[in-house]
Amino acid sequence: MSKTLVVATKTALNNAIKTKKDSIKKKKNITIGLSPTMGALHNGHKSLIEKNVSENDISIVSIFVNPAQFSPSEDLDKYPRTLENDIKLCESLGVDIIFTPDSKEIYDGDEVSINPPKNMGYILEGYYRPTHFSGVLQVVLKLFNLTEANNAYFGKKDAQQLLIIQKMVKNLFLNINIVPIEIVRDSDSLALSSRNIYLDSKMRKKALAIPKAIFKINDLVSQNVRDIGILKESALEILKGLNIDYMDFYTHDLKLANEAKNCIFLLAVRLNLSDNSGEIRLLDNLWLD
Ligand code: AMP
Repeated sequence: MSKTLVVATKTALNNAIKTKKDSIKKKKNITIGLSPTMGALHNGHKSLIEKNVSENDISIVSIFVNPAQFSPSEDLDKYPRTLENDIKLCESLGVDIIFTPDSKEIYDGDEVSINPPKNMGYILEGYYRPTHFSGVLQVVLKLFNLTEANNAYFGKKDAQQLLIIQKMVKNLFLNINIVPIEIVRDSDSLALSSRNIYLDSKMRKKALAIPKAIFKINDLVSQNVRDIGILKESALEILKGLNIDYMDFYTHDLKLANEAKNCIFLLAVRLNLSDNSGEIRLLDNLWLD
């Protein structure tokens, strides 16, 4: 296995890609894969990275806590950072290049900006975080350009993000293939997230109502219950007492679905942190055929 290169600047990234390309025997159609992350890597990221490594000649993982996607009131400074462990994990998975730029490398302070589509970017997460998707698209487009990736790996866990990125690729005619990755859950079924470390055991217990509701919907749909009213009622029963930011069924272009078919059940719940230092929002979803 060749050594994982850890680089922090655009020039070093270019050189690393060139070095890796030179070391590959086949010279034509070398494919580059990118797994964009904000670090604090867990098994959800691992799944994105493994697929990247297995499908590409050169695999790149970016680790960048992107300030542009946080609003001033959010947890940018507190966001978990575990770079040493992240590097070890990537090395063990056979990643070729880890790109860990700092903010100045990515942003020059006076930016051409990119906005999500009006119909998809300002509902659900975008309603609660109106500048979020603009920041996500800004960095994702830069990362696509910097790495010249052929394939990029995104989790279905962030369903709205995935759909908006697919829309950007379509609208801007980007020459990149977006590969969706299934949601990875912890042993207690909570969807893995870097922010789960904020949960103490009491909060975690409460949070388990979320996967329970997701599984209930899945069960009912597999019994061919497609009526959205009935499904939402049974989910609400399980989520009783939690602060639900949103919970509904959406088509893949993020319009409200009429029945639970070929759509996504999207759910966001807010929990207060036990030390009263704020709250954490947990997202989960279910993709239905
Ligand atoms: P983040 O580091 O939170 O920005 O996430 C980086 C990528 O990992 C995104 O494409 C996420 O959707 C994906 N991801 C995060 N958590 C999970 C999970 N539990 N299962 C699958 N993918 C995930």
